[in-house]
Amino acid sequence: MFFPFFRRPHAEATWKALGRILSWTADVLFPHRCAACGAPSGEGPDPAWCPACFKNLPFIAPPLCPVCGRPYVPTEAMPDHRCSECLLDRFRFDAARSATIYQGGVRRGILQLKFGGKLHWAPALGKLAALHDETRRILDRGKVIVPVPMHLRRVRRRGFNQAALLARFAGRCCSRPVEVNALVRARVTKPQTRLSRAERLRNVRGAFAVVRPEVVAGKSVVLMDDVFTTGTTLSECADALKKAGADWVGAVTVARVILGPGTPVGKEDPS
Ligand SMILES: [Zn+2]
Ligand SMILES: [Zn+2]
Repeated sequence: MFFPFFRRPHAEATWKALGRILSWTADVLFPHRCAACGAPSGEGPDPAWCPACFKNLPFIAPPLCPVCGRPYVPTEAMPDHRCSECLLDRFRFDAARSATIYQGGVRRGILQLKFGGKLHWAPALGKLAALHDETRRILDRGKVIVPVPMHLRRVRRRGFNQAALLARFAGRCCSRPVEVNALVRARVTKPQTRLSRAERLRNVRGAFAVVRPEVVAGKSVVLMDDVFTTGTTLSECADALKKAGADWVGAVTVARVILGPGTPVGKEDPS
């Protein structure tokens, strides 16, 4: 009303052009820096990473479990095959994939994002899920992305839910809406860090509730989180989504902890 110019049809195009000019200027004055090493990121596949750091990212590739995405050591001619847990139908999600192994720069980034409040890691990590083929296929199959929720009390303490931030950047890359308020953590759960698999399952069982079923009912839904460790949290979230009518539930994480035989769960997996 007070600024009639901005309401004209051509005003939107003008704003877009102005935005592009500002963006070019910012790129020249403040070139993108690699989130991991701080070097100018140059012309890599993602301006959040320099080409050298991007090349060293431990992306997960087949052979893997077609259900939970657990990677196997590549040996000659080994096809994808179900892991022991998926043969027992342990998980409630239909398919899960992680972009990289939880190590090196990715692990450091996730820890700095969650516990150091280094928010510059959010685009660098979130976009990896959209850039990597395995995780992108899951994202593309979903109609909506739902981040794994944190309890409100913990969100207030931390100031943000890292899963929601990662989902925003992944969703932006693949043009999928992100619904942050559809699924909630209905009760406070203990951090999973020092819990065994069985304890983790007890800890999160029934902890999640869908409060906006209309957002997920009859749809393919993709859950998003930072790290896949035992898959218990994602499985419980998937259970809540399916009970609310979701047709298909995929799960995408930026990283996956590789648990070898006899590896104690929770040695390096803060949540
Ligand atoms: Zn770098
Ligand atoms: Zn599996």
